[in-house]
Amino acid sequence: MVSAFVSPLLVHNTTTFLRPRQCVKPRSSAAPLKMSLSVLVTGAAGRTGSIVFNLLSSDATKYLPTGLVRDVTKAVTTNELLKGQRNHLIEGDITLPETLLPAMQGKDSLVILTSAIPRKEPPKPDSLPNQPPSFFYDAGGMPEDIDWIGACTQIDLAKSIGLKHVILVGSMGSTEENNMLNKIGNGNILKFKRKAELYLIESGIPYTIINPASLLSDPPSERELIVGKNDELFSIYNRMECGIPRADVARVVVSALTAETAKNKAFDLIAQPKGRGRITVDPSILFQSAYATLS
Ligand code: NAP
Repeated sequence: MVSAFVSPLLVHNTTTFLRPRQCVKPRSSAAPLKMSLSVLVTGAAGRTGSIVFNLLSSDATKYLPTGLVRDVTKAVTTNELLKGQRNHLIEGDITLPETLLPAMQGKDSLVILTSAIPRKEPPKPDSLPNQPPSFFYDAGGMPEDIDWIGACTQIDLAKSIGLKHVILVGSMGSTEENNMLNKIGNGNILKFKRKAELYLIESGIPYTIINPASLLSDPPSERELIVGKNDELFSIYNRMECGIPRADVARVVVSALTAETAKNKAFDLIAQPKGRGRITVDPSILFQSAYATLS
C-alpha cells in the first residue's frame, strides 16, 4: 500500500527522489557567489562620471557598476563611453529622491559625480566684441539644488539603506572666499560643494572626498599626482600648472573603491605637468598620505 504521505522532495523530480536529502543543494547555493563590488555612479553621463563608469565596466570580475543618468537614450547616443551600456544605466534625477531609491538599492558603494552645470548666456546685441561671456544655471539646477541639496539627498539615502562607502568628487578652491567660480551665475558653487563635503563627513558613512584642481581632457597615467588639503597646494605649486586629467581623477576614484586606506579621507588632488616628477602608476599609494578631515 502506498503511503499517504509524500515528501515535497519527491514531487515532480525523480532525480531528487534518488538522492539522499542531505545532498540536495538549496537553489540559492547554485547561484554564483557575489564577488563583485556593486557600485552606483551618479553623473555617469558626465565627462568624469562616464570615464569612471567605463573603467568599472571594463573590470567585470571586480565591479558591477550602474550609472545614474537623466536621459538614458541621450547618454548612450551622445557619449562614446556609454555606447552599448543601456542595460547598466538607470534614469534618475538627484532633485527627485523617489527616482534615486531604485538605483541605490542593493549597492555596496556610491560615487557622486553630479554637479550643477553653468550655461553660457547668448551674447546680447549690444555686447562688445571681447566682452567675457556671462553664465546662468537652469531653474532647479543651481549649485544649491545640485551640489548641496542634491548631494545631501544622495548621502541621506545611502545612509538609510546601509551603503558601505560614499565617494564624493568636489573641487579645489572651496576654501577661497573670493574664488571666481563662486561668482559664476551667482551660484556659489564651491561653497555649496564644501558644505556637502562636511555633511558627508558628519553623516558617519565611510567616505572618500576627492577635490581635484582644474580638469583636463588629456590622457591618464602620464603625470605625477599629488595630494594635499585645504587648497594649500595652490601656494606650493603654480596654480596654472595644477590641472589634472579627468581620466586620472577617475583612476583615483576607482582605486579608492577597494582601498581601505582611502576610507575617511578628504583630500585635494593635482597633477604635475607632463614630464615633471615621477609618474603615479598606482594611485592607491596616494591614500597613505591623504588627510582625514577638512578644516
Ligand atoms: P560634468 O561633465 O559637468 O557632469 C556633471 C553631471 O552631473 C552630468 O552628467 C549631469 O547629468 C549630472 N547632473 C546634473 N544635474 C543632475 C540632476 N539633477 N540629476 C542627475 N544628474 C545630474 O562634470 P565634470 O566636468 O566631469 O566634473 C566632475 C566633478 O568635478 C564635478 O563635481 C565638478 O564640479 C568637479 N570639478 C570640475 C572642474 C573643472 O575644471 N571643470 C575642476 C575641479 C572639480 P546630465 O548628463 O544629464 O547633464
